[in-house]
Amino acid sequence: MTVDLQAPYDVNNIFARILRREIPVEIIYEDDYALAFPDIAPQAPIHVLIIPKGAYVSSADFGASASDAEIAGLARAITKVAENLGLSHSGYRLISNTGPDAGQEVPHYHVHLLAGAKLSAKLI
Ligand code: C5P
Repeated sequence: MTVDLQAPYDVNNIFARILRREIPVEIIYEDDYALAFPDIAPQAPIHVLIIPKGAYVSSADFGASASDAEIAGLARAITKVAENLGLSHSGYRLISNTGPDAGQEVPHYHVHLLAGAKLSAKLI
């Protein structure tokens, strides 16, 4: 099921439960603003999800409601994840599906980081 962008934040969505440590994941990176862990169904040799710690449904919600510190914190966390994974030279792709037309399935804002090979299906 895809995410309803108008729905209130569901405190029991899977990523909220991961943030509360109710579901174990391999933590790739963590700081005050963000958590990163491998995607359970990787679409590239490296496929990591980076999520803000705040309760935001989507990229739209995050952009509208997060503080400047949270927005900067997530951006810096993404860069740190890429650096820590050794991707500073080879590069990577960031994707954030937002709402039904983009097929967003988990209603907690997340950024996909895909890397580790020449990525196919470049849309833009
Ligand atoms: O952008 P979208 O909402 O479709 O992405 C959700 C992602 O969360 C999927 O890539 C899915 O594999 C991942 N996922 C996960 N662990 C879960 C549930 C979903 O990594 N327990």
